[in-house]
Amino acid sequence: MKIINFASIRTKLIFSMLAIAIIVIVIISSSLITKQYAVTKEKAEQGLAVLSDIVASNSLSAVIFNDPTSAEKTLSALIAQPDIMHAAIYNPTGSLFATYQGNKAYQSSIDQQTLLNIISSKKKLTQFNQDGVHSYTPLVFEGEVVGLLHITDNMNEFTKQLDDYLVLVLSTSIFAIFASLLVMFWLQSLFTKPLNTLLEVIEHISNNKDYTQRVNLKSNDEFSQLAHSFNVMIGEVDARGRQLETINHELENRVSERTFELQQTLEIAKKASQAKSEFLAVMSHEIRTPLNGIVGFSDLLTSFKLNKNVSNTVQMINDSAQTLLVLLNEVLDFSKADANKMDLDIKEFNLPDLVTSACHSHKVSAEKKGLNFDVFISPLIHENYLGDSVRVRQIINNFVSNAIKFTHQGAISVQISEHMEASDTFITFTVKDTGIGIATAKLESIFTPFMQADNSITREFGGTGLGLAICQQLVVLMNGRYGVESTLNEGSNFWFSIPLVPQDNSFIASPVVVEPDNNRACC
Ligand code: ADP
Repeated sequence: MKIINFASIRTKLIFSMLAIAIIVIVIISSSLITKQYAVTKEKAEQGLAVLSDIVASNSLSAVIFNDPTSAEKTLSALIAQPDIMHAAIYNPTGSLFATYQGNKAYQSSIDQQTLLNIISSKKKLTQFNQDGVHSYTPLVFEGEVVGLLHITDNMNEFTKQLDDYLVLVLSTSIFAIFASLLVMFWLQSLFTKPLNTLLEVIEHISNNKDYTQRVNLKSNDEFSQLAHSFNVMIGEVDARGRQLETINHELENRVSERTFELQQTLEIAKKASQAKSEFLAVMSHEIRTPLNGIVGFSDLLTSFKLNKNVSNTVQMINDSAQTLLVLLNEVLDFSKADANKMDLDIKEFNLPDLVTSACHSHKVSAEKKGLNFDVFISPLIHENYLGDSVRVRQIINNFVSNAIKFTHQGAISVQISEHMEASDTFITFTVKDTGIGIATAKLESIFTPFMQADNSITREFGGTGLGLAICQQLVVLMNGRYGVESTLNEGSNFWFSIPLVPQDNSFIASPVVVEPDNNRACC
């Protein structure tokens, strides 16, 4: 069953027009019926009045000559009027003089007093009640009321006429409603048909993205203008869409061309970078051999007895060669890391031994600068671990030598602790100093290659800015984490944490403070 959609324009149009038609028809019919009632009633009244006058004048002589038989004969002429139920002539005293009974069943019920009142008023009177209409006509002779004629009409003719009229009006109204319904359907189709066509096209376009679809309306009215404007608009959208498609296509082509070019450039750059790294690795490796010779021989020379000037010069050669060797090692490491060629050499090593020996030379340098130097190894730490001890030592060396380099007074401490993360054992190395510190804004960048916290650092302290970058890559290679907390002019706290595999159950039971003369502690 089709459900009526009250929201649709079609339904709204039909219902509103139907409502208007019904209201108009009801108003017109009711006013016609009211008018017809009044006219018919007036006509009936007039007809009865005329009849009463005729009967009154015909029966006047019978009343004057007191001849009731003649009067009744006159009244009996009323048989020609089937609606007259009863007629009667009364004496001025109110007593019955002559009567006519048209409808045998009807019983006149007028009372004496009413009769006398009408007679004394000498006026004609018409009254309506449930029986019909009553006409009272005084019979006047030479100014004197000699009797009263009372005729009762059941108004059947009047009612029939009225009924006929009612039927006519009602059937005309029903016909008018049906006719207006037909007109309404036709009218609404004038509005909704083109609208529906337009809607169908819009739905088709939005569902299928088919902008070639057009609205085809044959009429010559506002709807066809609307359809024309819609078609023009869709045409423009279609044209823009095609333009966009072409532009997109061109863009895609350009992007893929550019991507191809960029890929080629990237490939070339990668090859160039690899070649540069390889060149650096080879060069630094090649330079290291003669440099080691310079360091070794200058070391050997210092053991000879030389005059002071020559000894100073040899020492300077040795220092410079050492610095150059550190630099070369850093460049070699960095180029290796850059070319993803940095490997780990995993072996078993003794952690406390590694830490103490790594700190040994630094302890001496720190003391030369008048700095305190302490190493703390936390309790419950294993002795032997599996890992790349050379690289661990390298990171410790870098952190500690930086700490000594950037600290003018105070203390440096190295702390080693162990903790578990899931099933992995992590060792955390922390190097704390009371040096120049690093501005918060620079903390992120110091692990970037060739970056230093300050432009004045190279001038004042030397260095390349490569050390921390290498440390960072080593820690990442060992699946560890690293970080720094620092306050400018107060000191820094560099740390790294790496997973190492413990190799025995031997624990250091209590915290070990590595003192200078402790046999384990070299520092
Ligand atoms: P380099 O020491 O050769 O300059 P690094 O990579 O080791 O290179 O260090 C990068 C920079 O980080 C340093 O130049 C310095 O500015 C800052 N830095 C590193 N360690 C410390 C420290 N302990 N105290 C203050 N600044 C430091």
